Amino acid sequence: MTHLLHRAIHSRLPVAVRGEGIYIHDSEGKAYIDASGGAAVSCLGHSHPDVLKALHEQLDAIAYAHTGFFTTDVAERLGDRLIEDAPAGLEKVYLVSGGSEAVEAALKMARQYFVETGEHGRRHVIARRQSYHGNTLGALAAGGNEWRRTQFRPLLIETHHISPCYAYRHQHEGETAEEYGERAARELEEKILELGEDLVMAFIAEPVVGATSGAVPPAPGYFRKIREICDRYGVLLILDEVMCGMGRTGTLHACEQEGISPDLMTIAKGLGGGYQPIGAVLLSGRIFEAFEQGSGFFQHGHTYMGHPMAAAAGLAVQEVIRRDGLLANVVAMGEHLADGLAKRFGQNANVGDIRGRGLFQAIELVENKETKAPFDPVLKVNAHIKREAMDRGLMVYPMGGTIDGREGDHVLIAPPFISTKGDIEAIVDRLGAAVDAAI
Ligand code: PLP
Repeated sequence: MTHLLHRAIHSRLPVAVRGEGIYIHDSEGKAYIDASGGAAVSCLGHSHPDVLKALHEQLDAIAYAHTGFFTTDVAERLGDRLIEDAPAGLEKVYLVSGGSEAVEAALKMARQYFVETGEHGRRHVIARRQSYHGNTLGALAAGGNEWRRTQFRPLLIETHHISPCYAYRHQHEGETAEEYGERAARELEEKILELGEDLVMAFIAEPVVGATSGAVPPAPGYFRKIREICDRYGVLLILDEVMCGMGRTGTLHACEQEGISPDLMTIAKGLGGGYQPIGAVLLSGRIFEAFEQGSGFFQHGHTYMGHPMAAAAGLAVQEVIRRDGLLANVVAMGEHLADGLAKRFGQNANVGDIRGRGLFQAIELVENKETKAPFDPVLKVNAHIKREAMDRGLMVYPMGGTIDGREGDHVLIAPPFISTKGDIEAIVDRLGAAVDAAI
């Protein structure tokens, strides 16, 4: 009997004892291909020698120094590295311990920006129905994943949601992808006008949607239109790249492929590759200057922000990705994965859509391919796939999303950036067998 409260109270979890490259080994000697890094975390795989060396060195030097009293060389160097590679206009970095903390901080930065600049009325947050921004109360309020939100609704701040950009489900017949993107983006303008253009503070969205619908890329031009609308009404654009960022889609930041920069960007997961808990907010020079010339203080903080061990992990992971040219491998292996999924699942009667970017791909499972009707949630298709995959030594990320008020199923595949062609083929083979066994 364990004293740990596990999320799924009745499930018996294998005990992970060792990680090596793309594999996790359990206490019974079984090896699992880590094809999702849990939820798109382990971008370098496990036990990377350069990251371990950096962590040992940092531990020998100093493990912790409170950011109210000290800065550290390693945190400063990580800040420099992140800004060197940041989208245009992002000039400062705020280091925290994970994705939800980053989203909370970004929301508070947006609010404080308007307080500093005298627009006290701006308070509304607009997000999209099919989104996940974290599990802390502010981030959960922003997200649109009803399965995660429902019972906590009375605790959540008021937020507003528009439709996601989700071509498989919402693009009309006869409508081009660009027309669809334009239509989906226009909903933001309508919502801003409905709420009052001087009262909206921020719009938050994931450039490529992760946990809620499974690697859903935006329609072409959608985010350019969103950027235009935010600028027109003075609304801050927060891009949540906690899952899709830091190289996962083949460019360091997913928004690079949309040709836009946000005012605030949240990153986590692949930033430290799971070697330490770390997240960050990147903020624009304009927001920083408002703080600098205003109160001179950002009214927020956490005990472990800027933790030296976490910064050392982030810096080492990012240096290895750059030194080893791993983004090129993400692009090449991403194509191989997309081809493999298309070959293996293209004709499958229950795979409605195959999509994604780079090493961030998903299949969406449907009960009926013609009508796109999802499976009945009581069937727990995603849970069965997870179990069948684990039985076959494969870790993928099957999730139930909310599709127009109903649960739907998808499987997210997000293998490490060091994956080889053979690794990708093994992932597709094992996933194919797991899906066949589960449905
Ligand atoms: N934002 C996005 C897009 C995410 O996918 C997640 C986690 O899955 C979060 C925020 C929350 O991150 P964390 O679990 O590190 O708090």
